[in-house]
This record gives sequence, C-alpha cells and structure tokens, in this order.
Amino acid sequence: MDTTNLHTPCFILDEAELVRNIREFNAALQSKFKQSIIGYSVKTNSLPYVLKLVKDNGCYAEVVSYHEYSLALKIGFDRKHIIYNGPLKSRDTFLQAVCDGALVNVENWREIDWLRSLPKDKRYGVGIRLNINISKISPEDAACDDDDSRFGFSFESGEFQKAIADIAAIGNIDVVGLHSHREPKTRSVGFYQRVIAYVADIISQCHLSPDYWDLGGGFFGIMPGKPTYQQYVDGFYEVLPESLRCLKIIVEPGNAIVASAFDYWMEVIDVKHHDGKAFVCTDGTRNDVDPFFHKNDYFKEFVLTDSENRSRSSLPQVVSGLSCLEYDRLFQLPAESVSLKAGDRIVFHRVGAYTMVLSPLFIHYFPYVYVRNSTGLSLVREEWNENEFVIKNKY
Ligand SMILES: *Cc1c(COP(=O)(O)O)cnc(C)c1O
Repeated sequence: MDTTNLHTPCFILDEAELVRNIREFNAALQSKFKQSIIGYSVKTNSLPYVLKLVKDNGCYAEVVSYHEYSLALKIGFDRKHIIYNGPLKSRDTFLQAVCDGALVNVENWREIDWLRSLPKDKRYGVGIRLNINISKISPEDAACDDDDSRFGFSFESGEFQKAIADIAAIGNIDVVGLHSHREPKTRSVGFYQRVIAYVADIISQCHLSPDYWDLGGGFFGIMPGKPTYQQYVDGFYEVLPESLRCLKIIVEPGNAIVASAFDYWMEVIDVKHHDGKAFVCTDGTRNDVDPFFHKNDYFKEFVLTDSENRSRSSLPQVVSGLSCLEYDRLFQLPAESVSLKAGDRIVFHRVGAYTMVLSPLFIHYFPYVYVRNSTGLSLVREEWNENEFVIKNKY
C-alpha cells in the first residue's frame, strides 16, 4: 500500500529511524564505556511493535509499573533485561524481578520492607534511587524556584543514608546500583554533568561500590542545534571520576529514541467561514499530537489533493480537530496561505513521544498505526472500535 490509501487519522512508524537512533546512541556509549545499556523507557511509547523492535535491537525495557513489567515479559524481554523503577511496583512483581536478577531500583520504604521477606540463604542485589532537587543541584536548569522531586531518597534529609543502612541490616541484600533520573526542561549536557558530580560525591561519602549507575533519561533526540548522543556521552565521561568510569553505565531514553520515528496524518473533512475566519475541521485531534496542550507549533507538512492552481484564503484558517472540544484547535494559518479543502492531509513529524500513550478514549478511539520498513507500509494496529471499548465491561 502507499500513503494515498491510508486510513486517517493514523500514526506511521519509520522503522529505520528508530533503529538508527538506538544504534547511534549505543555507538556513542561504546565509544567511552566498556559496559553500557540502553533501557528503553516503555512509558514514552509502549506500542507493542516498538517494544519488539527495541528488544530485537538489544535494549532493555525500563518499566515503571507492574502493568509495564508484565507487558515487557509478554513482548518477550529476557527477565534479566528489565529495569524496574517507579513507585507503582507490586510486591509480587518486585520480588520476582529481584529474584530473577532484573535491575530493580528501590524507590520507597515499602519496597525495603518487601526485601525483608526474601529467603535468607541467598544474596540479592538492588539499586536505589537518589532524590534529585534541580534547584539545589543545577539551578540554571530549574523550571521554578523550588524544582524539587517526589522520587527517590534524599541525601540532604538523611533518608538516603538510612535506606542504605536499613538495606544493609537485612543481611543478604547488596546495593549494586544507583539511579539518578531527573528530566529538566533544558535537557542540557551541563545538567547531567552537575548531577553526576553530585552523585559521585555521595557514592564516595557513603562508601558505596555499585556495579551500575543508571543516569536516567530526558535527552534530546537528534535535532539541529541540540546536543547529540555523542555530546551527552562525552559530557558524562568528562566529569565521571576515573574510579567510576568502569561502572556499567545505563541510560533510559524514551523521547531521544522514539520521538523522531513517528508521524501523524490527519485529513481535512470540512471548511466553514464565519467571524472573519475559515474553520478547517479535520478527522484528527490535538489529543493525538499534543496531549498536554502546551505546544505552540509543530513540525508539519501539507499533502494537498491537487497542488496546482490552488487559491489562497483571504481569511486566516483555524485548523482544528475532530472532537467536540472548542479548544481542540491545532494551529492557525495566516490570511493568504493556501486554502485548505476536504481531502487535503496534514502530516505532523516527530510525534512519537508521550502522544499515543496519552491519547484518551474520548469521542474517537485509538487510531490506526502503520509501520514503514523495507517491505513497504503495513498496518500494525487496527483502529479501536466499540468492541475493544466494551471489553471487561458488564452492561
Ligand atoms: C520518563 C522516564 C524516562 C524517560 O524520559 P524521556 O524524557 O522520555 O527520555 C526515563 N527514566 C525514568 C525513571 C522515567 O520516569
């Protein structure tokens, strides 16, 4: 098939782009570190086809709930190739993952309590998440005066030291890893360097000897004017004390790997004129490309039904979505732009991160997803309809 017979609205995954991102990030890591792992952040885009691709390309699955943990197993990730983070671990999956040798980063007190129930005749290893307050560690990257975090144990409050002591007191559990994820708006290399310096100091003060250091995610993907994978990795290496450069370095990118690999296609279905504007209605929705409703513009492109002799619109054109929400408006074209008409398509690029997974089942259900690879364009997810919507309901 080709794009003329696509069902819209839909997402299209560019398989080669996703694989290239993984390879380039891996190549950058391997240029500096003997041991490194990419843990793909499942929450960023958990389309099963994407998970299978990242698995087949050597990534671990970074999961943050018992649902995501089970999903990773269902997709076929090796039990050891799971990085288990976040507050929503269940007791059963937490203990299972620790026993299986997954990389489990303890994030709260109840998990430390669960560790006490492990059999005493064996040794186990866990990682621990350190709390990162951006305002204190890297003020220039802070989004507000008090850019604190809900996650991990705080060194300043003394809870990190207590957590380490409590784990040691259990007797058969070693702290084998550190986890320091935080995501500043700036995504700057300098931020990661300041976090590394902060954590390295704590490792030394607490006399820890971890096997791995999980630096978290939050990196830019390849984009003009933004740091490259290599610049991030060079930045990590530069500030890591010599004694820690031999650790297994883990990164947990979501956005950096998946954002550029997806496009979204919508089609104009109608145009009305009033109040000095042309209201262009499409079959897509802002929920699908900007679920937080905070973007000002998009990487977009127009595919017109007939590009010759197109008239220009004397009125500004308000391009809006399918929903009944007044604010489901995507962008406005100024007067004298090409006049859009039914059948024209609008393509949004770089929309793979935090889009499909945040689409609500609101008015229109989950859209079609296609993949483009060496065999052409093919469907990998049907549009959801009323049959999927009623699953697990009694009525
Ligand atoms: C969300 C998250 C990531 C991925 O963040 P991106 O901005 O998509 O790279 C990595 N690690 C943890 C713990 C997260 O919560």
